[in-house]
Amino acid sequence: MSARGPLMNTYNRAPITIVSGHGCTLVDSEGRQYLDFIAGIAVCALGHAHPAIAQAVEDQARRLVHASNLYAQEPSGTLAHELVRRSGMNAAFFCNSGSEANEAAIKLARKWAFRRNEPRRTTILACTGSFHGRTLGALAATDNARYREGFAPLPAGFAFVRFNDAADVHRKVDDRVAAVLVEPVQGESGVHPAEAEFLRAARAACDERGALLIFDEIQCGMGRIGPLFAFQRFGVRPDVLTMAKALANGLPIGVMLAGDRAAGAFEPGDHGSTFGGSPVPAAAALAHLRVRDELDLETRVLERSSLLFEKLRDLAARHASVLGAPRGIGLLAGIPVNDPCDAKAIQAAARERGLLLGTAGGNTLRIAPPLIVSEEEVARGVALLDEAISATFG
Ligand code: PLP
Repeated sequence: MSARGPLMNTYNRAPITIVSGHGCTLVDSEGRQYLDFIAGIAVCALGHAHPAIAQAVEDQARRLVHASNLYAQEPSGTLAHELVRRSGMNAAFFCNSGSEANEAAIKLARKWAFRRNEPRRTTILACTGSFHGRTLGALAATDNARYREGFAPLPAGFAFVRFNDAADVHRKVDDRVAAVLVEPVQGESGVHPAEAEFLRAARAACDERGALLIFDEIQCGMGRIGPLFAFQRFGVRPDVLTMAKALANGLPIGVMLAGDRAAGAFEPGDHGSTFGGSPVPAAAALAHLRVRDELDLETRVLERSSLLFEKLRDLAARHASVLGAPRGIGLLAGIPVNDPCDAKAIQAAARERGLLLGTAGGNTLRIAPPLIVSEEEVARGVALLDEAISATFG
């Protein structure tokens, strides 16, 4: 039997089998070590096999794994308190993934409008270039023809505003719009940060026309761009925000947080999840928050980010025929690769040299290391990328 097992053909998997990890290093079944510059696609913020996460998982698994949402649970109650306190929101709904968190947000926005006697206010206005997940509602809010193809009919009631176009958002938010849904940093489309002006325009349009503003912080939240919540860096407060990925450093959990306007829109029976807020992932998420505070990860991310972008700009200048100008914020970087060069060829060459990278839309290399990455690891990663580019296109 092999780890490559009879899995459905949903991923172009690399020809290696990962068996373990520690810190920013992953190890394959041949014993080869890789510097991990993608962290499970912006998931493992504290790196791999972090002792505090392992301990929290073990302790919780010995105490309680599941009792259901029919009862108040710990530690998800404490986790909800922590997330609400740190975000200034009012209430949390736990689920198991990013797509599910966005489904919850879409449903919440519609129920909120319905309860205000505005049943015609149903449209979810997402952004061009968006990615919100693969479930049908989240896919309907995702502006990528490749992901949508073959899945029609998608749910109705979704429209798109041009990302970073303040005038367009002013034009398109009307009395049919229940919510504007925005990624403060678009990850899958190739790492495109929102302009603060666009987010402010979306906020103002929602306030003027009575819609909710939802931020999808699934990839850019949990400290990826510095502060715990991405909105704190942009200075624009949403009514609802979704997070998943890094929340429990790799265990499956998602959350929707809602502020005072919408937090009361759901009543028993409106929404639910058997595993949502399950004790083991919730314990891991609490451990993650504790370690984040102890390490002052916000400051570290901002410091490492400066170093990373300095080195990436230098790299791009030295390989100007292959790479465009790096984009991004915090420890989320995208480097556009010039056609006819191929980001996937660089990714493969980097892997052969012991560096794991991601790719994203628009022929882009994506870099999202664990947030604990050291200065030495930043330097080593960029040097390996340099070698990989020289070897592929030199
Ligand atoms: N939203 C954003 C911004 C994402 O980056 C992702 C995943 O990449 C999702 C939603 C979907 O999350 P999941 O794969 O956990 O369903």
